[in-house]
Amino acid sequence: MNAARIAAIRCFAVRLPFDHGAPAPRFAGTPRTTLDSVWMRVELDDGLAGWGEAYAPDPEALASLVRSRVAPLALGQDPLDEQLCERLERVLHNAGRSGPVLHALSGLDIALWDLRGKRAGLPVSELLGGRRREQVSAYASLLQYYGDVGPLERQLHAALEAGFTQVKLHERDAASVEATRRAIGVGVPMMVDTNCAWLPAEAEAPVRAMKAFSPLWIEEPLWPPEDLASLGALGRATGVPMAAGENAASLHELLQMAHGGSADWLQPSAIKCGGLSALRRVAAECAAHGRVRLSPQTAFFGPGFLATLHLMATLPEPTAIERLFCGLATVPYAQAVPLEQGTFTLPRGSGLGAEPDASLLNAPL
Ligand SMILES: [Mg+2]
Repeated sequence: MNAARIAAIRCFAVRLPFDHGAPAPRFAGTPRTTLDSVWMRVELDDGLAGWGEAYAPDPEALASLVRSRVAPLALGQDPLDEQLCERLERVLHNAGRSGPVLHALSGLDIALWDLRGKRAGLPVSELLGGRRREQVSAYASLLQYYGDVGPLERQLHAALEAGFTQVKLHERDAASVEATRRAIGVGVPMMVDTNCAWLPAEAEAPVRAMKAFSPLWIEEPLWPPEDLASLGALGRATGVPMAAGENAASLHELLQMAHGGSADWLQPSAIKCGGLSALRRVAAECAAHGRVRLSPQTAFFGPGFLATLHLMATLPEPTAIERLFCGLATVPYAQAVPLEQGTFTLPRGSGLGAEPDASLLNAPL
């Protein structure tokens, strides 16, 4: 019997400066010099605290929404109630069906899983059905080099030297894909993320040009990303496996995608789509239908990454987790969740199994 209630939600802007061996890439129209998200600490009235993470290109805006909309509804609630976030999503639907509202609830959901694990004295992966493995391999997800193959090749060699055995590019030209295949050799799986590069009528030729270099998947080739019919048609026309899902605006959309017919690889983002609860449901739906493989998007480093790692340790079929390949001054959870030879070892502690490095946290927003 546990009577503890949610007493506080605090948001922290975590902005990680990075070095990827090239000038700052653009992100949402401006140069990007830090990798940002909001880490959320959810505190109970008995002193226990859990950590979540929310997608937040603008941390102050996310924190403002948490203060004005989410916290007033969540404070006083039972952290063990697994329906809480879904109920809040329903109550909050007039404040926005997707975007920051869902991102904030994603962070809350992840923190509640951390709390449930800590309360039970079990790793989150045990609450999700139990670990099938203690290690999860990662793929090196390179940042964007805009077709500049010099720094791209240097980063590819660095990734292989670090022990990664799979790589992903964020390029849009076949010459970069060709250079990558040449640099990594024929046996190394390579994925290509184009970040919604083309309109449906434009996409077939560039996708066919990349096909010659055997990508494992091409990710988000189409704008808008919710045009699932065109995505399915592109995959069928070219014979290239399609990956998508990080921009899905709801769990419902992801569950539809899990039925097949659009993406071959489904990439829910735990810090966007409703947290670990949503990720778990998408994983179950993929397994039930057996037509779409799950490869969660994890272009982030905080509690959302840990939560995804726990889920992936429970999946029947191992798949690699995404790891942005760049230098960080401080690598979150480097001690508790070591990355060696391109493979993460899961922490054994309760909850998410690792606490944030205090040096990453400034005053709450
Ligand atoms: Mg992507």
